[in-house]
Amino acid sequence: MYPKPKKSLGQNFLANPRVSRRIIDSCSLAPCERVIEIGPGRGALTDLLAPRVEEIIAVELDPVLAGLLRDRYSRQVHVHIDCADFLKWDVLRNCVHPPYKLIGNIPYYISSPVLERIFSCKEIFSEIYLTVQKEFAQRIVAGGGSKQFGALSCFVQYYTEPKLMFNISRNSFFPVPKIDSCFLKLVVRRKPLLTKREEGTFFRITRSVFTQRRKMLRNCLSSVVIGPRLFSILDAAGIAPTARPEELSLPHFLTLAKLLSV
Ligand code: SAM
Repeated sequence: MYPKPKKSLGQNFLANPRVSRRIIDSCSLAPCERVIEIGPGRGALTDLLAPRVEEIIAVELDPVLAGLLRDRYSRQVHVHIDCADFLKWDVLRNCVHPPYKLIGNIPYYISSPVLERIFSCKEIFSEIYLTVQKEFAQRIVAGGGSKQFGALSCFVQYYTEPKLMFNISRNSFFPVPKIDSCFLKLVVRRKPLLTKREEGTFFRITRSVFTQRRKMLRNCLSSVVIGPRLFSILDAAGIAPTARPEELSLPHFLTLAKLLSV
């Protein structure tokens, strides 16, 4: 018997087997693959993963659910259930046979920290499959020129090539949440797009300009670089000084980061 779902842990479990199957079918899994699952919950995805892959390490914060899953998989030695907070979980120590695919239907309130944690050790992962809040997914995949394009889009698109796979209705979960979801695929970029120094500049400027998204670039960037140099850098990057941050695209910000790091 399962305990009552805990709101505080974002427990909205997949309750539509067709959706669970569609998620796992979309992860292009081969039998030799190893998977990390974040928040297995009642095992809706774990049950489908177990017969398909070489190894699963599932990290669940709720000790009661982790205990139930451990009992359920006690005879399947390739399924490991770790009772831990994924945000504090030692990825490098636990993932000793990379590459891994990462799969998770994650609580909405930890979506951003989860991405930060994943990207801090991205070399471990080949592909990342996440079910997240629809608006959050739309911001991740947004291209330059759209209202949703912002610091989050730049952050995720810098490390990965994201693809919105399909929408998931709120009615596919129990309890039914107030929002719809999306299933996302993120393919980790093997080669960094910038040097370490340029990367620092890239994140500084993308975070800074999108907090002032209504301002023109020449004003948003005036704290980073002053006077005529700013105008010549914008000119070299092919950006009008009057453009607003959301009118730019990822390549613009990459070029700006390179020019500002010289
Ligand atoms: N994967 C299951 C499914 O699709 O039905 C459960 C999804 S539910 C949205 C999120 C799960 O993540 C819950 O089981 C919750 O207890 C767990 N969880 C919440 N915070 C966590 C954290 N920081 N680390 C690991 N698991 C967490």
